[in-house]
Amino acid sequence: MPADSVTGMPDAEPFDMVDLIRTKRDGARLDDARIDWVLGAYIRGAVAEEQMSALAMAILFRGMDRGELARWTAAMVAGGRRADLSGLGRPTVDKHSTGGVGDMITLALTPTVAACGAAVPQLSGRGLGHTGGTLDKLESIPGWRATLTTAEYDAQLREVGAVICAAGADLAPADRRLYALRDVTGTVESIPLIASSIMSKKIAEGTAALVLDVKVGSGAFMKTQADAAELARAMVDLGTDAGVRTVALLTGMDTPLGWVAGNALEVGQAVQVLAGGGPPDVVELTVTLAREMLAAAGMSAAKDPAEALRDGSAMDRWRAMIIAQGGDPDAPLPHARHTQTITADADGVLTRLDALAVGTAAWRLGAGRARMQDAVQAGAGVAWHARPGDRVRAGQALFTLYTDTPSRFPAARDALADAARIDAAAIGASAPSRTPLVLQRLA
Ligand code: URA
Repeated sequence: MPADSVTGMPDAEPFDMVDLIRTKRDGARLDDARIDWVLGAYIRGAVAEEQMSALAMAILFRGMDRGELARWTAAMVAGGRRADLSGLGRPTVDKHSTGGVGDMITLALTPTVAACGAAVPQLSGRGLGHTGGTLDKLESIPGWRATLTTAEYDAQLREVGAVICAAGADLAPADRRLYALRDVTGTVESIPLIASSIMSKKIAEGTAALVLDVKVGSGAFMKTQADAAELARAMVDLGTDAGVRTVALLTGMDTPLGWVAGNALEVGQAVQVLAGGGPPDVVELTVTLAREMLAAAGMSAAKDPAEALRDGSAMDRWRAMIIAQGGDPDAPLPHARHTQTITADADGVLTRLDALAVGTAAWRLGAGRARMQDAVQAGAGVAWHARPGDRVRAGQALFTLYTDTPSRFPAARDALADAARIDAAAIGASAPSRTPLVLQRLA
């Protein structure tokens, strides 16, 4: 606790942190005054990291009711700047994904929605663990920079209609520290803490509407649809209560999206989508989310996103967005220096491709980081050459692994040991029905 500079006595605080931790530990609710105090005091340095981690653990076990969660989120927003984008002259709408493997949707989606007339203020983060971060992906483009001044950000949003950049330190500052603390104290997996962390940043960025892509499955934070629906409900309610028109789609993440996981690999795939091609599941999800975003922005009558991908206008926005942030959209993307192939050991039908295993392999090859301060390799990652339902033959390439550091291959191969299931008995059987990409919608 800081000392008073005149008396040398500790400054008086209105609440005792140990009492507050005990309150939540014993299952009682935190009132508004205590919530406002604890988040403010944490930013001021009047609450120690070990006390905040104890409180986070108590919240993980005891949860928060709707009123507590709304106040906690509002206090996180109030601790920093809340942007006002109402003077932009066009509707604002953003998207957030809770993270998956091969989930490069934001890259193609942001310029597509901008090409349809909305402004997309996308403040993004870096990857941690087996899911990639949008900023890490974009940083594989030569010259591209993630950090913009407020003036640059405002100008780009006005002129291009699309920005993907790092959130400034003044936006929901308590979240920055709390998220790092949760990461090293086993307290990430708490629905109220995840919901308030994500929504405080989205509310503070000033978007008028928001579409949430809440991933469900092995490669996602939320392994079951019930947990994902609970997280989605909490976030939709927080957004709505804060005046942001918010919709959530629950989408499958048992199988990775597209054909690749890794930073430059995923940028390359996004460019294919913007050029009117790309993997069908990625195109379908991009168009579905773009239509939801336009509807949430009150722009259902705007140009259809599928048309923006077809006629080149989404690609034009992408190029303008990359150039505005110093990037060269025509420069070749980095390649990993070393590759290895894993082949199928039997004839059959691929019946499973596990997203978590693929994401872990990409991470171990250098595409992701274990700690926030670690560097990532732009060219590292995994490509897969068959998707569930595809016929494969013994000896055919199933995966290609990419890295600059060949000592990483064995651990990545271990991760992929059980990633693909090949079923010989399924040859000739009718193709299994495809699980729909969108499992549920909440508004
Ligand atoms: N992403 C965030 O921004 N916060 C969380 O708590 C989890 C994922």
